Amino acid sequence: MTEFDLVVLGGGTGNAVASAGAEEGLDVALVERDRLGGTCLNRGCNPSKKLIHRADVAETVRQAGSLGVEASVEDVAFADVVDDVNATITAEAESKAETARESDRLTFFQNEGRFVGERTVEVDADGGREEITAEKIVLAGGSRPLIPDAIDGTDEVDFLTSADALRLRERPDRLVIVGGGYIAAEMGHFFGAMGAEVAVVSHSDVLVSREDRDVAEFVTDAYAERYDVYTGYGATELVEEGDENEGTKLVRAEPEDGEQIEVRGDEVLVATGRRPNSDTWNVEAAGIDTDEKGFVETDRFLETSVDGVWAIGDIAGNYMFKHSGDKEAEYAVRNAVRGERASVEYPGMAHAIFGSPQVGSLGKTEGDLDREEYDVGTFAYDDTALGVALADDGFAKAIAAPDGEILGFHVVGPHASMLVHEVATAVSAGADADRLAETIHVHPALSEVVQGAFREVRGHPPTGI
Ligand SMILES: Cc1cc2nc3c(=O)[nH]c(=O)nc-3n(C[C@H](O)[C@H](O)[C@H](O)COP(=O)(O)OP(=O)(O)OC[C@H]3O[C@@H](n4cnc5c(N)ncnc54)[C@H](O)[C@@H]3O)c2cc1C
Repeated sequence: MTEFDLVVLGGGTGNAVASAGAEEGLDVALVERDRLGGTCLNRGCNPSKKLIHRADVAETVRQAGSLGVEASVEDVAFADVVDDVNATITAEAESKAETARESDRLTFFQNEGRFVGERTVEVDADGGREEITAEKIVLAGGSRPLIPDAIDGTDEVDFLTSADALRLRERPDRLVIVGGGYIAAEMGHFFGAMGAEVAVVSHSDVLVSREDRDVAEFVTDAYAERYDVYTGYGATELVEEGDENEGTKLVRAEPEDGEQIEVRGDEVLVATGRRPNSDTWNVEAAGIDTDEKGFVETDRFLETSVDGVWAIGDIAGNYMFKHSGDKEAEYAVRNAVRGERASVEYPGMAHAIFGSPQVGSLGKTEGDLDREEYDVGTFAYDDTALGVALADDGFAKAIAAPDGEILGFHVVGPHASMLVHEVATAVSAGADADRLAETIHVHPALSEVVQGAFREVRGHPPTGI
């Protein structure tokens, strides 16, 4: 058994913890069976947003005519787009692996690993297995697509997960997406803007159902204008068709009560959520407690139920975003590497959906609020000069307590992923809704949409006078 000062499991967010540990003088082992950079770099945020940017460009060109600029999309070199994006990602992952291999203090096990006892991990090695241990272990073991048992045929029919869809070199003419969350919305936008006919089959009665209801309805309506959107239908079966429908895949789905539907495509993407990798790491053997969905339970110091083992990122399931995972990595370094006992905080925690329209969101939705007293202020993009110029719909919605505390903020429309940040900074700095309403906003920047919502929620006149 080889002993290290620190073992890090998972080379996504975990890679930063392992590097920091090595830089601070610890003897570190990093276990990652795949490419360094994990989900975000290789099959998540990075490739999806790089591809979506190109989809946004195609969409902008197609819509240019409505602004008097005549233009059209002649062709999209789909395979080149995908190859180009994946080449940059592969280069980045390889550069991370090279840095890890060059470090004197870091041993990079690029193999499958699993717990076999408390703080003991067995790692596949060339021609055998090696056991490693450490007083301190950071588990950054991630998550993977969840394929519901309720859908028959997933064993027999080839379908795509988000990881496959991001590397598909041939654009399907017809794509059926099962699922209605943010990955479904982003992938639908990508393939749709690239010219595919898209159908979305969603169990919930709206797309992006975790968002504020008004936002979710707005997104659903926008998608329904461009794609075939079936909300309120649970997929029950995937079928590979034969005879005259050779090459076609069929999704059967049922509403709570009513008629079954059949939706056909050349490819089916199943984007029905993600499950934690606690099983692949065999955390049970280490005595690490998980909840009923398999997420590793952590306290406010990110400590698990086992002394000397911390968990961060998707496997701990606190938020399941890269930026929250990175924040947790900071705390893992403080607590596991530097010996502090810092309680994790997520100042101004927000998230975004890079679909069309975009969504930016922070704090509570109206549906989450378990208090009776709160105020809501909404402001439309086209009530601002730049919003009118963009000729695109959207709105911002601010939710505040009677004393002005910001409870939630939700924005849907162009650049929503950026607009949410002014509120994130305000919340993190302890500012209230009046402060946002009173802050001078550059005219006619799109941020006036944010200010408008905060003026509205606090009863300030729209002009401020
Ligand atoms: C399509 C898609 C788009 C996304 N877009 C965004 C976005 O725009 N913004 C955002 O914030 N988040 C986004 N996310 C979520 C984000 O990617 C994740 O929250 C984040 O990458 C999780 O990081 P992690 O370190 O916890 O896990 P991971 O990055 O998954 O790292 C865990 C690692 O453990 C490895 N592993 C698992 N089991 C074993 C084993 N037994 N042995 C060895 N290695 C193992 C895996 O190979 C993996 O590399 C997206 C996710 C997807 C799928």
